Amino acid sequence: MVRAEVVIDEEQCQGCGYCVKFCPRGCIVIAGDKFTPQGYLLPSFVKPDECNTCGFCAMLCPRAAIEVYLNISSEVPV
Ligand code: SF4
Ligand code: SF4
Repeated sequence: MVRAEVVIDEEQCQGCGYCVKFCPRGCIVIAGDKFTPQGYLLPSFVKPDECNTCGFCAMLCPRAAIEVYLNISSEVPV
């Protein structure tokens, strides 16, 4: 099974929302209920099945707070 993973470093994120605005698949949202240690609104990666690992979010993040992974599991889905 192949699944995308997007990891957001909450220590680096400054809540600008670029990753939310420019993800072509709407995979990242700012729900308004999570905050970074510095008090910025923290985005969440919410659609691992929609993400195509294009990397736009990581490239656009001005704080280099995002890492995109392709997680390949040996488990065969039923
Ligand atoms: S890698 Fe691409 S599709 Fe996935 S969350 Fe980032 S911008 Fe969206
Ligand atoms: S683009 Fe980077 S700094 Fe801006 S909200 Fe997303 S993760 Fe945070």
